[in-house]
Amino acid sequence: MSWEPIKKDPSAWTVPPNLACYEKTCAGFSWEAIRRELDGLPGGRGLNIAHEAVDRHANGALRNQLALRWISREGQTEDFTYADLKEKTNRFANLLGQLGIGKGDAVFALAGRIPELYITALGTLKNGSLFCPLFSAFGPEPLQQRLSKGEAKVLVTTTRLYRKNVAQLRASLPMLKHVLLADSDQDVAEDVCSFQQGLAAASGEFTIPPTDPEQHALLHFTSGTTGTPKGAIHVHQAVLMHYMTGKYVLDLHPGDVFWCTADPGWVTGTSYGIIAPLALGVTNIVDEADFDAERWYRILEQQRVSVWYTAPTAIRMLMRLPIEPRKQYDLRHLRFIASVGEPLNPAAVLWGQQALGLPIHDNWWQTETGGIMIANFASMDIRPGSMGRPLPGVEAAIVRRIDEKTVEPIPEPGVDGELALKPGWPSMFRGYLHEDQRYRKCFQSGWYITGDLARRDADGYYEFVGRADDIIKTAGHMVGPFEVESVLLEHPAVAEAGVIGKPDPIIGELVKAFVSLKPGCPPSEELRLDLLGFARKRLGSVVAPKEIEFQKSLPRTRSGKIMRRLLKMRELGLPEGDTSTLESAV
Ligand code: AMP
Repeated sequence: MSWEPIKKDPSAWTVPPNLACYEKTCAGFSWEAIRRELDGLPGGRGLNIAHEAVDRHANGALRNQLALRWISREGQTEDFTYADLKEKTNRFANLLGQLGIGKGDAVFALAGRIPELYITALGTLKNGSLFCPLFSAFGPEPLQQRLSKGEAKVLVTTTRLYRKNVAQLRASLPMLKHVLLADSDQDVAEDVCSFQQGLAAASGEFTIPPTDPEQHALLHFTSGTTGTPKGAIHVHQAVLMHYMTGKYVLDLHPGDVFWCTADPGWVTGTSYGIIAPLALGVTNIVDEADFDAERWYRILEQQRVSVWYTAPTAIRMLMRLPIEPRKQYDLRHLRFIASVGEPLNPAAVLWGQQALGLPIHDNWWQTETGGIMIANFASMDIRPGSMGRPLPGVEAAIVRRIDEKTVEPIPEPGVDGELALKPGWPSMFRGYLHEDQRYRKCFQSGWYITGDLARRDADGYYEFVGRADDIIKTAGHMVGPFEVESVLLEHPAVAEAGVIGKPDPIIGELVKAFVSLKPGCPPSEELRLDLLGFARKRLGSVVAPKEIEFQKSLPRTRSGKIMRRLLKMRELGLPEGDTSTLESAV
Protein backbone atom coordinates (compact mmCIF):
# COMPACT_ATOMS: atom_id res chain seq x y z
CA MET A 1 0.00 0.00 0.00
CA SER A 2 1.42 3.41 -0.88
CA TRP A 3 0.76 6.34 1.41
CA GLU A 4 0.11 9.92 0.43
CA PRO A 5 3.04 12.22 1.20
CA ILE A 6 2.58 14.62 4.08
CA LYS A 7 3.03 18.07 2.60
CA LYS A 8 4.77 20.78 4.58
CA ASP A 9 3.21 24.22 4.61
CA PRO A 10 5.89 26.91 5.07
CA SER A 11 3.24 29.50 5.93
CA ALA A 12 2.44 27.49 9.09
CA TRP A 13 6.03 27.49 10.39
CA THR A 14 6.44 29.38 13.61
CA VAL A 15 10.20 29.04 13.25
CA PRO A 16 11.82 28.62 9.82
CA PRO A 17 13.73 25.31 9.67
CA ASN A 18 17.52 25.49 9.92
CA LEU A 19 17.71 23.45 6.75
CA ALA A 20 15.39 25.41 4.50
CA CYS A 21 16.39 23.82 1.20
CA TYR A 22 17.90 20.35 1.12
CA GLU A 23 19.57 20.64 -2.29
CA LYS A 24 21.07 24.04 -1.56
CA THR A 25 22.41 23.02 1.84
CA CYS A 26 23.95 19.85 0.39
CA ALA A 27 25.55 21.76 -2.49
CA GLY A 28 27.16 24.37 -0.23
CA PHE A 29 28.05 21.99 2.59
CA SER A 30 31.51 21.56 4.08
CA TRP A 31 32.71 20.08 7.34
CA GLU A 32 35.14 23.00 7.67
CA ALA A 33 32.19 25.38 7.80
CA ILE A 34 30.55 23.28 10.53
CA ARG A 35 33.84 23.22 12.42
CA ARG A 36 33.90 27.04 12.30
CA GLU A 37 30.50 27.15 14.01
CA LEU A 38 32.09 25.41 16.97
CA ASP A 39 34.72 26.86 19.30
CA GLY A 40 37.70 24.55 19.48
CA LEU A 41 39.74 24.52 22.67
CA PRO A 42 41.14 27.93 23.57
CA GLY A 43 44.62 28.57 22.21
CA GLY A 44 44.13 26.19 19.28
CA ARG A 45 44.61 23.18 21.57
CA GLY A 46 42.24 20.94 19.64
CA LEU A 47 38.60 19.95 19.88
CA ASN A 48 36.89 18.44 22.89
CA ILE A 49 33.25 17.34 23.00
CA ALA A 50 32.74 18.58 26.57
CA HIS A 51 34.11 22.00 25.74
CA GLU A 52 31.69 22.37 22.84
CA ALA A 53 28.77 20.99 24.85
CA VAL A 54 29.37 22.75 28.15
CA ASP A 55 32.27 25.14 28.64
CA ARG A 56 31.86 27.27 25.57
CA HIS A 57 28.32 28.14 26.70
CA ALA A 58 29.28 28.45 30.37
CA ASN A 59 32.02 30.91 29.39
CA GLY A 60 29.64 33.03 27.33
CA ALA A 61 26.15 34.43 27.08
CA LEU A 62 24.42 31.13 27.89
CA ARG A 63 26.13 30.86 31.26
CA ASN A 64 22.86 31.06 33.22
CA GLN A 65 20.74 29.29 30.65
CA LEU A 66 19.11 26.05 31.81
CA ALA A 67 21.21 23.27 30.32
CA LEU A 68 19.70 20.21 31.90
CA ARG A 69 16.46 19.72 33.80
CA TRP A 70 16.26 16.39 35.54
CA ILE A 71 12.87 15.02 36.56
CA SER A 72 13.05 12.37 39.26
CA ARG A 73 10.83 9.30 39.28
CA GLU A 74 8.75 11.05 41.96
CA GLY A 75 8.38 14.15 39.81
CA GLN A 76 10.81 16.52 41.55
CA THR A 77 13.05 18.55 39.30
CA GLU A 78 16.70 19.47 39.61
CA ASP A 79 18.09 22.17 37.34
CA PHE A 80 21.62 22.66 36.02
CA THR A 81 22.63 25.79 34.17
CA TYR A 82 25.55 25.63 31.76
CA ALA A 83 27.67 27.22 34.52
CA ASP A 84 26.55 24.53 37.00
CA LEU A 85 27.37 21.78 34.52
CA LYS A 86 30.79 23.27 33.90
CA GLU A 87 31.59 23.34 37.57
CA LYS A 88 30.32 19.82 38.30
CA THR A 89 32.02 18.26 35.31
CA ASN A 90 35.24 20.07 36.25
CA ARG A 91 35.00 18.45 39.66
CA PHE A 92 34.49 15.03 38.14
CA ALA A 93 37.45 15.49 35.79
CA ASN A 94 39.59 16.47 38.80
CA LEU A 95 38.31 13.47 40.74
CA LEU A 96 39.40 11.20 37.90
CA GLY A 97 42.83 12.84 37.94
CA GLN A 98 43.12 12.18 41.68
CA LEU A 99 42.30 8.53 41.06
CA GLY A 100 45.10 8.36 38.51
CA ILE A 101 42.72 8.07 35.56
CA GLY A 102 44.05 9.79 32.47
CA LYS A 103 43.92 9.98 28.72
CA GLY A 104 42.29 6.97 27.08
CA ASP A 105 41.43 5.22 30.36
CA ALA A 106 37.94 3.76 30.28
CA VAL A 107 35.29 5.17 32.61
CA PHE A 108 32.03 3.22 32.53
CA ALA A 109 28.61 4.25 33.77
CA LEU A 110 25.90 1.81 34.76
CA ALA A 111 22.90 3.75 35.97
CA GLY A 112 19.44 4.84 35.04
CA ARG A 113 18.92 8.42 33.92
CA ILE A 114 20.31 10.22 36.97
CA PRO A 115 22.28 13.51 37.02
CA GLU A 116 25.48 11.73 38.04
CA LEU A 117 25.45 9.86 34.72
CA TYR A 118 25.53 13.11 32.76
CA ILE A 119 28.25 14.58 34.97
CA THR A 120 30.28 11.41 34.54
CA ALA A 121 29.95 11.42 30.75
CA LEU A 122 30.97 15.04 30.30
CA GLY A 123 33.62 15.06 33.05
CA THR A 124 35.20 11.96 31.54
CA LEU A 125 35.38 13.63 28.13
CA LYS A 126 36.95 16.72 29.70
CA ASN A 127 39.60 14.55 31.27
CA GLY A 128 40.46 12.98 27.90
CA SER A 129 39.33 9.58 29.17
CA LEU A 130 37.05 7.18 27.31
CA PHE A 131 33.38 7.19 28.31
CA CYS A 132 31.38 3.98 27.98
CA PRO A 133 27.72 3.76 29.01
CA LEU A 134 26.08 0.47 29.97
CA PHE A 135 22.35 -0.16 29.88
CA SER A 136 21.04 -0.39 33.43
CA ALA A 137 18.78 -3.37 32.63
CA PHE A 138 21.73 -5.57 31.66
CA GLY A 139 22.31 -8.65 33.82
CA PRO A 140 25.76 -9.77 35.03
CA GLU A 141 26.63 -11.66 31.84
CA PRO A 142 26.45 -8.72 29.39
CA LEU A 143 28.06 -6.49 32.00
CA GLN A 144 30.99 -8.82 32.56
CA GLN A 145 31.66 -9.06 28.83
CA ARG A 146 31.58 -5.31 28.29
CA LEU A 147 33.48 -4.24 31.42
CA SER A 148 36.16 -6.80 30.75
CA LYS A 149 36.54 -6.19 27.02
CA GLY A 150 36.47 -2.41 27.54
CA GLU A 151 39.09 -2.67 30.32
CA ALA A 152 37.01 -0.51 32.63
CA LYS A 153 39.10 1.27 35.25
CA VAL A 154 36.28 3.25 36.85
CA LEU A 155 32.61 2.39 37.14
CA VAL A 156 29.98 4.89 38.21
CA THR A 157 26.84 3.10 39.33
CA THR A 158 24.24 2.91 42.09
CA THR A 159 24.31 0.84 45.26
CA ARG A 160 21.45 -1.35 44.05
CA LEU A 161 22.94 -2.12 40.65
CA TYR A 162 26.37 -2.68 42.14
CA ARG A 163 25.11 -5.19 44.69
CA LYS A 164 22.77 -6.93 42.27
CA ASN A 165 24.95 -7.32 39.20
CA VAL A 166 28.52 -6.09 39.63
CA ALA A 167 29.88 -7.05 43.06
CA GLN A 168 29.87 -10.75 42.05
CA LEU A 169 32.02 -9.93 38.99
CA ARG A 170 34.81 -8.04 40.72
CA ALA A 171 37.15 -11.02 40.94
CA SER A 172 37.00 -11.37 37.17
CA LEU A 173 37.64 -7.67 36.55
CA PRO A 174 41.18 -6.98 37.84
CA MET A 175 41.42 -3.74 35.80
CA LEU A 176 38.42 -2.22 37.58
CA LYS A 177 40.10 -0.19 40.31
CA HIS A 178 37.39 2.22 41.39
CA VAL A 179 33.65 2.01 41.80
CA LEU A 180 31.83 5.28 42.54
CA LEU A 181 28.34 4.96 43.97
CA ALA A 182 26.11 7.82 42.86
CA ASP A 183 23.64 7.41 45.73
CA SER A 184 25.94 6.68 48.62
CA ASP A 185 27.02 9.55 50.85
CA GLN A 186 29.78 7.45 52.37
CA ASP A 187 32.62 5.34 51.08
CA VAL A 188 31.73 1.67 51.37
CA ALA A 189 35.17 0.13 50.88
CA GLU A 190 38.58 1.31 49.78
CA ASP A 191 37.64 0.88 46.14
CA VAL A 192 33.88 1.41 46.42
CA CYS A 193 33.44 5.09 47.17
CA SER A 194 30.86 7.82 47.33
CA PHE A 195 30.52 9.75 44.07
CA GLN A 196 29.17 12.81 45.91
CA GLN A 197 31.95 12.89 48.47
CA GLY A 198 34.56 12.56 45.78
CA LEU A 199 32.93 15.36 43.82
CA ALA A 200 32.63 17.64 46.86
CA ALA A 201 36.30 17.22 47.72
CA ALA A 202 37.52 17.91 44.18
CA SER A 203 38.23 21.37 42.79
CA GLY A 204 35.68 23.10 40.56
CA GLU A 205 38.46 24.55 38.41
CA PHE A 206 39.76 22.50 35.52
CA THR A 207 41.52 23.19 32.27
CA ILE A 208 40.72 20.70 29.54
CA PRO A 209 44.01 19.24 28.31
CA PRO A 210 44.89 19.56 24.62
CA THR A 211 42.59 17.19 22.74
CA ASP A 212 43.37 15.93 19.29
CA PRO A 213 40.10 15.79 17.31
CA GLU A 214 40.97 12.15 16.57
CA GLN A 215 41.42 11.27 20.25
CA HIS A 216 39.15 8.45 21.42
CA ALA A 217 36.17 9.77 23.33
CA LEU A 218 33.28 7.30 23.43
CA LEU A 219 32.98 3.56 23.48
CA HIS A 220 29.63 2.01 22.59
CA PHE A 221 29.06 -1.69 22.67
CA THR A 222 26.81 -3.20 20.06
CA SER A 223 25.84 -6.80 19.48
CA GLY A 224 27.00 -8.91 16.58
CA THR A 225 25.56 -12.14 15.26
CA THR A 226 28.59 -14.06 16.43
CA GLY A 227 31.17 -13.63 19.16
CA THR A 228 31.19 -11.14 21.99
CA PRO A 229 29.70 -7.63 21.67
CA LYS A 230 31.70 -5.20 19.56
CA GLY A 231 33.05 -2.02 21.12
CA ALA A 232 32.65 0.79 18.58
CA ILE A 233 35.11 3.62 19.23
CA HIS A 234 34.25 7.24 18.49
CA VAL A 235 36.50 10.29 18.57
CA HIS A 236 36.12 13.86 19.82
CA GLN A 237 35.43 15.32 16.40
CA ALA A 238 32.20 13.28 16.33
CA VAL A 239 30.81 16.42 17.94
CA LEU A 240 30.72 18.03 14.49
CA MET A 241 28.13 15.44 13.51
CA HIS A 242 26.20 15.74 16.78
CA TYR A 243 26.08 19.50 16.33
CA MET A 244 25.25 19.44 12.62
CA THR A 245 22.44 16.88 12.96
CA GLY A 246 21.09 18.65 16.06
CA LYS A 247 20.84 21.72 13.88
CA TYR A 248 19.62 20.27 10.58
CA VAL A 249 17.68 17.14 11.60
CA LEU A 250 16.34 17.93 15.07
CA ASP A 251 16.06 21.53 13.95
CA LEU A 252 17.17 22.90 17.32
CA HIS A 253 16.96 26.66 17.71
CA PRO A 254 18.05 28.93 20.57
CA GLY A 255 15.51 28.73 23.39
CA ASP A 256 14.28 25.26 22.45
CA VAL A 257 13.38 22.71 25.09
CA PHE A 258 14.48 19.31 23.83
CA TRP A 259 13.55 15.88 25.11
CA CYS A 260 15.21 12.70 23.90
CA THR A 261 13.56 9.69 25.50
CA ALA A 262 16.41 7.29 24.70
CA ASP A 263 18.50 5.89 27.53
CA PRO A 264 22.17 6.93 27.57
CA GLY A 265 22.98 3.23 27.92
CA TRP A 266 22.63 3.20 24.13
CA VAL A 267 24.15 5.42 21.50
CA THR A 268 21.07 7.59 20.85
CA GLY A 269 20.90 8.48 24.52
CA THR A 270 24.49 9.70 24.44
CA SER A 271 24.75 11.39 21.04
CA TYR A 272 21.32 13.01 21.30
CA GLY A 273 20.36 12.61 24.97
CA ILE A 274 23.53 14.38 26.10
CA ILE A 275 25.83 15.85 23.47
CA ALA A 276 23.77 17.31 20.59
CA PRO A 277 21.32 19.45 22.58
CA LEU A 278 24.08 20.82 24.77
CA ALA A 279 26.32 21.47 21.78
CA LEU A 280 23.49 23.65 20.45
CA GLY A 281 23.00 25.41 23.79
CA VAL A 282 19.35 24.44 24.33
CA THR A 283 17.62 23.02 27.41
CA ASN A 284 17.78 19.25 27.69
CA ILE A 285 15.02 17.42 29.58
CA VAL A 286 15.94 14.16 31.31
CA ASP A 287 13.24 11.98 32.83
CA GLU A 288 14.34 9.30 35.25
CA ALA A 289 11.18 7.21 34.93
CA ASP A 290 10.34 4.61 32.32
CA PHE A 291 7.58 4.89 29.75
CA ASP A 292 4.22 5.99 31.07
CA ALA A 293 1.87 7.59 28.56
CA GLU A 294 0.24 10.10 30.86
CA ARG A 295 3.50 11.07 32.46
CA TRP A 296 5.03 11.59 29.02
CA TYR A 297 2.20 13.83 27.85
CA ARG A 298 2.44 15.76 31.12
CA ILE A 299 6.17 16.29 30.56
CA LEU A 300 5.57 17.51 27.03
CA GLU A 301 2.99 19.95 28.40
CA GLN A 302 4.59 21.12 31.63
CA GLN A 303 8.14 21.40 30.37
CA ARG A 304 6.95 23.08 27.18
CA VAL A 305 8.96 20.68 25.10
CA SER A 306 9.44 22.09 21.61
CA VAL A 307 11.49 19.31 19.99
CA TRP A 308 10.91 15.68 20.86
CA TYR A 309 13.08 12.73 19.80
CA THR A 310 11.61 9.34 20.58
CA ALA A 311 11.27 5.79 19.24
CA PRO A 312 8.74 3.72 17.29
CA THR A 313 8.01 1.31 20.16
CA ALA A 314 7.03 4.24 22.39
CA ILE A 315 4.92 5.78 19.64
CA ARG A 316 3.10 2.50 19.05
CA MET A 317 2.44 2.22 22.78
CA LEU A 318 0.98 5.73 22.79
CA MET A 319 -1.11 4.95 19.72
CA ARG A 320 -3.03 2.11 21.30
CA LEU A 321 -4.21 4.11 24.32
CA PRO A 322 -7.57 5.88 24.43
CA ILE A 323 -5.95 9.26 25.08
CA GLU A 324 -6.59 12.28 22.90
CA PRO A 325 -3.40 14.19 23.57
CA ARG A 326 -4.37 17.38 21.80
CA LYS A 327 -7.65 17.62 23.72
CA GLN A 328 -6.31 16.55 27.08
CA TYR A 329 -2.93 18.30 27.08
CA ASP A 330 -1.61 21.66 26.02
CA LEU A 331 0.99 20.76 23.44
CA ARG A 332 1.19 24.13 21.74
CA HIS A 333 4.94 24.40 22.32
CA LEU A 334 5.70 21.20 20.47
CA ARG A 335 7.12 22.09 17.07
CA PHE A 336 9.00 19.04 15.79
CA ILE A 337 8.94 15.29 16.46
CA ALA A 338 11.53 12.77 15.28
CA SER A 339 11.97 9.05 15.79
CA VAL A 340 14.76 6.52 15.38
CA GLY A 341 15.89 3.00 16.10
CA GLU A 342 13.42 0.74 14.36
CA PRO A 343 11.13 0.90 11.37
CA LEU A 344 8.49 3.57 11.85
CA ASN A 345 5.32 2.29 10.24
CA PRO A 346 3.45 4.77 8.05
CA ALA A 347 0.41 4.55 10.34
CA ALA A 348 2.56 5.91 13.17
CA VAL A 349 3.68 8.89 11.08
CA LEU A 350 0.05 9.72 10.35
CA TRP A 351 -1.04 9.10 13.92
CA GLY A 352 1.39 11.86 14.92
CA GLN A 353 -0.24 14.19 12.43
CA GLN A 354 -3.74 13.43 13.72
CA ALA A 355 -3.18 12.94 17.43
CA LEU A 356 -0.34 15.40 18.10
CA GLY A 357 -0.86 17.79 15.22
CA LEU A 358 2.63 17.03 13.90
CA PRO A 359 3.92 14.24 11.70
CA ILE A 360 6.73 12.08 13.05
CA HIS A 361 10.01 12.43 11.20
CA ASP A 362 11.79 9.10 10.92
CA ASN A 363 15.56 9.02 10.73
CA TRP A 364 18.17 6.30 10.48
CA TRP A 365 21.59 5.66 11.94
CA GLN A 366 23.40 3.10 14.06
CA THR A 367 26.04 2.76 16.77
CA GLU A 368 28.85 2.65 14.23
CA THR A 369 27.80 5.85 12.46
CA GLY A 370 27.79 7.85 15.71
CA GLY A 371 25.15 10.25 14.42
CA ILE A 372 22.09 10.50 12.17
CA MET A 373 22.86 9.60 8.54
CA ILE A 374 19.48 9.59 6.79
CA ALA A 375 16.55 11.75 7.82
CA ASN A 376 13.24 13.35 7.10
CA PHE A 377 13.93 17.05 7.52
CA ALA A 378 11.58 19.68 8.94
CA SER A 379 11.36 21.49 5.61
CA MET A 380 10.77 18.39 3.49
CA ASP A 381 7.51 16.64 2.65
CA ILE A 382 7.36 13.25 4.37
CA ARG A 383 6.83 10.05 2.49
CA PRO A 384 5.43 7.78 5.22
CA GLY A 385 7.47 4.59 5.42
CA SER A 386 10.64 6.31 4.25
CA MET A 387 13.62 7.09 6.46
CA GLY A 388 14.32 10.20 4.38
CA ARG A 389 17.44 11.38 2.58
CA PRO A 390 21.14 11.35 3.48
CA LEU A 391 22.50 14.21 5.55
CA PRO A 392 24.55 16.92 3.86
CA GLY A 393 28.12 15.66 3.86
CA VAL A 394 26.97 12.03 3.87
CA GLU A 395 26.98 9.86 0.74
CA ALA A 396 24.74 6.81 0.86
CA ALA A 397 24.14 4.07 -1.69
CA ILE A 398 22.35 0.79 -2.18
CA VAL A 399 24.96 -1.75 -3.17
CA ARG A 400 24.75 -5.23 -4.62
CA ARG A 401 27.09 -7.98 -3.62
CA ILE A 402 29.49 -9.25 -6.27
CA ASP A 403 31.25 -11.68 -3.97
CA GLU A 404 32.07 -11.96 -0.29
CA LYS A 405 34.49 -9.03 -0.43
CA THR A 406 33.18 -6.89 -3.26
CA VAL A 407 30.11 -4.72 -3.72
CA GLU A 408 28.98 -2.23 -6.32
CA PRO A 409 26.41 0.56 -6.15
CA ILE A 410 23.07 -0.12 -7.81
CA PRO A 411 22.38 2.98 -9.92
CA GLU A 412 18.73 2.33 -10.65
CA PRO A 413 16.10 3.15 -8.00
CA GLY A 414 13.64 0.76 -6.42
CA VAL A 415 16.04 -2.18 -6.07
CA ASP A 416 16.66 -3.87 -2.71
CA GLY A 417 20.29 -4.12 -1.66
CA GLU A 418 22.68 -3.45 1.18
CA LEU A 419 22.73 0.05 2.59
CA ALA A 420 26.26 1.48 2.36
CA LEU A 421 27.89 4.78 3.28
CA LYS A 422 31.00 6.45 1.90
CA PRO A 423 33.49 6.69 4.81
CA GLY A 424 34.63 10.12 5.93
CA TRP A 425 31.96 11.68 8.14
CA PRO A 426 33.39 12.85 11.50
CA SER A 427 31.40 10.54 13.79
CA MET A 428 32.23 7.37 11.90
CA PHE A 429 33.54 4.72 14.32
CA ARG A 430 37.31 4.43 14.25
CA GLY A 431 37.50 0.79 15.19
CA TYR A 432 36.05 -2.10 17.14
CA LEU A 433 38.04 -2.29 20.34
CA HIS A 434 40.75 -4.97 19.99
CA GLU A 435 39.12 -6.33 16.83
CA ASP A 436 40.78 -4.80 13.85
CA GLN A 437 39.79 -7.56 11.47
CA ARG A 438 36.13 -7.30 12.43
CA TYR A 439 36.38 -3.55 11.79
CA ARG A 440 38.09 -3.89 8.42
CA LYS A 441 35.49 -6.39 7.28
CA CYS A 442 32.87 -3.62 7.45
CA PHE A 443 34.56 -1.74 4.61
CA GLN A 444 34.31 -3.11 1.11
CA SER A 445 35.01 -1.57 -2.31
CA GLY A 446 35.37 1.84 -0.65
CA TRP A 447 32.04 1.64 1.21
CA TYR A 448 31.06 1.10 4.82
CA ILE A 449 28.53 -1.75 4.78
CA THR A 450 25.87 -1.06 7.39
CA GLY A 451 24.36 -4.53 7.74
CA ASP A 452 20.91 -3.20 6.79
CA LEU A 453 18.93 -3.89 3.65
CA ALA A 454 17.18 -0.93 2.05
CA ARG A 455 15.99 0.56 -1.22
CA ARG A 456 16.11 4.06 -2.66
CA ASP A 457 13.35 5.67 -4.69
CA ALA A 458 13.83 7.83 -7.78
CA ASP A 459 13.99 11.00 -5.66
CA GLY A 460 16.68 9.70 -3.33
CA TYR A 461 14.47 8.74 -0.36
CA TYR A 462 15.58 5.58 1.45
CA GLU A 463 13.28 2.88 2.71
CA PHE A 464 14.28 0.28 5.29
CA VAL A 465 13.85 -3.34 4.18
CA GLY A 466 15.38 -5.35 7.04
CA ARG A 467 18.61 -6.52 8.60
CA ALA A 468 21.05 -8.46 6.45
CA ASP A 469 21.98 -10.56 9.49
CA ASP A 470 20.28 -12.23 12.46
CA ILE A 471 20.49 -9.26 14.82
CA ILE A 472 17.30 -8.69 16.80
CA LYS A 473 15.81 -5.26 17.46
CA THR A 474 13.52 -5.51 20.46
CA ALA A 475 11.87 -2.33 21.75
CA GLY A 476 14.68 -0.47 19.98
CA HIS A 477 17.43 -2.44 21.72
CA MET A 478 19.93 -4.41 19.71
CA VAL A 479 20.28 -8.04 20.84
CA GLY A 480 22.76 -10.50 19.40
CA PRO A 481 21.27 -14.03 19.26
CA PHE A 482 24.67 -15.51 20.02
CA GLU A 483 24.81 -13.86 23.46
CA VAL A 484 21.46 -15.36 24.37
CA GLU A 485 22.22 -18.80 22.95
CA SER A 486 25.51 -18.95 24.88
CA VAL A 487 23.78 -18.37 28.19
CA LEU A 488 20.99 -20.85 27.46
CA LEU A 489 23.61 -23.48 26.65
CA GLU A 490 25.00 -23.10 30.15
CA HIS A 491 21.77 -24.45 31.62
CA PRO A 492 22.32 -28.13 32.54
CA ALA A 493 19.24 -29.31 30.63
CA VAL A 494 19.98 -27.56 27.33
CA ALA A 495 21.62 -29.35 24.40
CA GLU A 496 21.07 -26.78 21.61
CA ALA A 497 19.70 -23.25 21.42
CA GLY A 498 18.72 -21.05 18.48
CA VAL A 499 17.46 -17.52 19.01
CA ILE A 500 15.44 -15.35 16.64
CA GLY A 501 13.47 -12.10 16.61
CA LYS A 502 9.75 -12.90 16.42
CA PRO A 503 7.74 -10.04 14.91
CA ASP A 504 5.68 -8.18 17.49
CA PRO A 505 3.19 -5.40 16.71
CA ILE A 506 4.39 -3.12 19.52
CA ILE A 507 8.05 -3.80 20.29
CA GLY A 508 9.06 -4.68 16.73
CA GLU A 509 10.56 -8.05 17.57
CA LEU A 510 10.62 -10.15 20.71
CA VAL A 511 13.47 -12.45 21.60
CA LYS A 512 12.37 -16.06 21.08
CA ALA A 513 14.52 -19.11 21.80
CA PHE A 514 14.22 -22.61 20.39
CA VAL A 515 15.81 -25.17 22.63
CA SER A 516 16.49 -28.89 22.38
CA LEU A 517 17.08 -30.76 25.61
CA LYS A 518 19.71 -33.23 26.75
CA PRO A 519 18.77 -36.91 27.03
CA GLY A 520 17.00 -37.55 30.31
CA CYS A 521 15.57 -33.99 30.46
CA PRO A 522 11.97 -34.16 29.26
CA PRO A 523 10.32 -30.89 28.27
CA SER A 524 7.88 -29.50 30.82
CA GLU A 525 6.27 -26.20 31.71
CA GLU A 526 8.33 -26.15 34.89
CA LEU A 527 11.56 -26.47 32.92
CA ARG A 528 10.45 -23.78 30.48
CA LEU A 529 9.82 -21.35 33.35
CA ASP A 530 13.08 -22.33 34.97
CA LEU A 531 14.93 -21.57 31.73
CA LEU A 532 13.17 -18.24 31.30
CA GLY A 533 14.17 -17.28 34.86
CA PHE A 534 17.73 -18.55 34.40
CA ALA A 535 18.21 -16.46 31.26
CA ARG A 536 16.62 -13.39 32.79
CA LYS A 537 18.84 -13.54 35.84
CA ARG A 538 21.98 -13.89 33.75
CA LEU A 539 21.16 -11.57 30.88
CA GLY A 540 18.75 -9.01 32.31
CA SER A 541 15.22 -8.28 31.20
CA VAL A 542 15.98 -6.69 27.82
CA VAL A 543 18.26 -9.37 26.43
CA ALA A 544 16.63 -12.51 27.88
CA PRO A 545 14.13 -14.44 25.72
CA LYS A 546 10.46 -13.74 26.32
CA GLU A 547 9.44 -17.04 24.71
CA ILE A 548 11.05 -20.46 24.76
CA GLU A 549 9.91 -23.35 22.59
CA PHE A 550 11.22 -26.87 22.95
CA GLN A 551 12.13 -28.85 19.85
CA LYS A 552 13.52 -32.36 19.50
CA SER A 553 16.53 -31.04 17.61
CA LEU A 554 17.41 -27.82 15.81
CA PRO A 555 18.19 -27.49 12.09
CA ARG A 556 21.88 -27.13 11.38
CA THR A 557 23.96 -26.47 8.30
CA ARG A 558 26.45 -29.11 7.19
CA SER A 559 29.12 -27.08 8.91
CA GLY A 560 27.17 -27.38 12.15
CA LYS A 561 25.72 -23.88 12.53
CA ILE A 562 22.18 -23.56 13.88
CA MET A 563 20.00 -22.26 11.04
CA ARG A 564 18.31 -19.29 12.66
CA ARG A 565 16.96 -18.28 9.27
CA LEU A 566 15.05 -21.52 9.00
CA LEU A 567 13.75 -21.28 12.56
CA LYS A 568 12.43 -17.85 11.68
CA MET A 569 10.81 -19.03 8.43
CA ARG A 570 9.05 -21.77 10.34
CA GLU A 571 7.97 -19.36 13.06
CA LEU A 572 6.47 -17.10 10.40
CA GLY A 573 4.91 -20.00 8.51
CA LEU A 574 6.84 -19.01 5.38
CA PRO A 575 8.21 -21.32 2.69
CA GLU A 576 11.55 -22.61 3.87
CA GLY A 577 13.40 -21.81 0.65
CA ASP A 578 16.67 -23.47 -0.20
CA THR A 579 17.52 -25.99 2.48
CA SER A 580 20.23 -27.78 0.52
CA THR A 581 22.90 -26.81 3.06
CA LEU A 582 20.89 -28.38 5.87
CA GLU A 583 22.55 -31.26 7.66
CA SER A 584 19.30 -33.20 7.72
CA ALA A 585 15.65 -32.43 7.32
CA VAL A 586 14.23 -31.94 10.78
P1 AMP B 1 21.91 0.58 17.10
O1 AMP B 1 23.29 0.39 16.62
O2 AMP B 1 21.58 -0.18 18.34
O3 AMP B 1 21.55 2.03 17.20
O4 AMP B 1 20.95 -0.03 16.00
C1 AMP B 1 21.06 0.34 14.68
C2 AMP B 1 20.11 -0.45 13.83
O5 AMP B 1 18.75 -0.12 14.17
C3 AMP B 1 20.21 -0.13 12.37
O6 AMP B 1 21.30 -0.79 11.75
C4 AMP B 1 18.85 -0.59 11.88
O7 AMP B 1 18.82 -1.98 11.71
C5 AMP B 1 17.94 -0.17 13.02
N1 AMP B 1 17.38 1.17 12.76
C6 AMP B 1 17.82 2.35 13.21
N2 AMP B 1 17.05 3.36 12.77
C7 AMP B 1 16.09 2.80 12.00
C8 AMP B 1 15.00 3.32 11.24
N3 AMP B 1 14.72 4.59 11.21
N4 AMP B 1 14.25 2.42 10.54
C9 AMP B 1 14.53 1.10 10.58
N5 AMP B 1 15.54 0.55 11.28
C10 AMP B 1 16.31 1.39 11.99
